[in-house]
Amino acid sequence: MSQPATDHRGATPPTAPRPAVRSVPAIRSTGARLHVDLDAVAANTALLAARTPGALMAVVKADGFGHGAAAVARTALAHGASWLGVTSLDEALALRADGVRAPVLSWLNPVGADFTAAIGHQVDVAVPSAAHLAAVTRAGVGARVHLHLDTGMARDGAAPSDWAALCRAARRAERAGQVRVVGVMGHLGCADVPEDPANAAARTVFAWGLGEARAAGLRPPLRHLAATAATLTDPAALHTMSRVGAGLVGIDPSGSTRLSPALTLTAPVVGVRRVAAGTAVGYGHAWAAGRATTLALLPLGYADGLPRVASGRAEVALRGRRHPVVGRISMDQVVVDVGDEAVQPGDVATVFGPGSAGEPTVSEWAGWAGTIEHEIVTGIGARVARS
Ligand SMILES: *Cc1c(COP(=O)(O)O)cnc(C)c1O
Repeated sequence: MSQPATDHRGATPPTAPRPAVRSVPAIRSTGARLHVDLDAVAANTALLAARTPGALMAVVKADGFGHGAAAVARTALAHGASWLGVTSLDEALALRADGVRAPVLSWLNPVGADFTAAIGHQVDVAVPSAAHLAAVTRAGVGARVHLHLDTGMARDGAAPSDWAALCRAARRAERAGQVRVVGVMGHLGCADVPEDPANAAARTVFAWGLGEARAAGLRPPLRHLAATAATLTDPAALHTMSRVGAGLVGIDPSGSTRLSPALTLTAPVVGVRRVAAGTAVGYGHAWAAGRATTLALLPLGYADGLPRVASGRAEVALRGRRHPVVGRISMDQVVVDVGDEAVQPGDVATVFGPGSAGEPTVSEWAGWAGTIEHEIVTGIGARVARS
């Protein structure tokens, strides 16, 4: 506890209450702002629910693909989803702490994860290995597990060579009353390209895996393979549940279906200047004005999720028109060449939105950055205000 060195009154006792600070205005972001359109999430959920004959799991990992996990979860649950899915147990427990009571599955955890907390908070966990099964049974009685089979990505899930033994061990644990095997899951690596033969191969592996589980005596009611792309394009991949994430927030990896983008990113113009032809902009002077023009400064950059690699290609909308981002995207700022447009400080630029007013979309930003929409929406930085 240090007193201010310049306490010129000198008589303030160390325990005196500090005077309330009155001059701080209500918190109001003056910078970049991300708006989440939950009506879009609702519409996307309803569309996806209508496409799947089984249950719909709303995947809200990575903070609901950057849209807010609890808000997307509640919206999806109100419009056709009955399950929630996340990667880590911590994400599942955060939903519980937020008061979300719906069934939740967490599918990627180290063996040392707090599976006791999973049992206590009724979070289902995926089990990809005998070591995980042992950890879950040690954690307490009554865990609900989904056995996870790698159906062809060499990533998470049990290798097919380990599957039959995992099924038998899980059945033993079930008979001993230690766990309930309620699900079997796989995942498709190439569902965004529906004609890729890897999809049929993965479906075959999954069907084989279900058969092995059955042969071991397991009767899991929840059998789930499809994510967004397969839910929209591959009826043969639909079992008793679909796990959809991207589609909820308007991203269709298969490019087959018109969904509603849910994010709008805006930023205020903090400065405007008229510059002469030849004026170079930003780090490395990567761009110089070819004519006299007006430059507008926006207070967001790659730390806020604008990919630096999009420098030289990206655009934003100002006053209803698109203008190029010029020079390198900095950590905290970008410069927009608005030509002779009468842009003023305080005008608000739309970095991306649904595209309905001609503004750039997340899909275009992904194209400018040579990536996928998922990476753009999950990459918006923490200092961007959410609304
Ligand atoms: C992210 C993820 C999903 C959701 O995939 P989308 O393509 O976003 O719908 C489903 N299952 C697993 C295992 C995932 O990691």
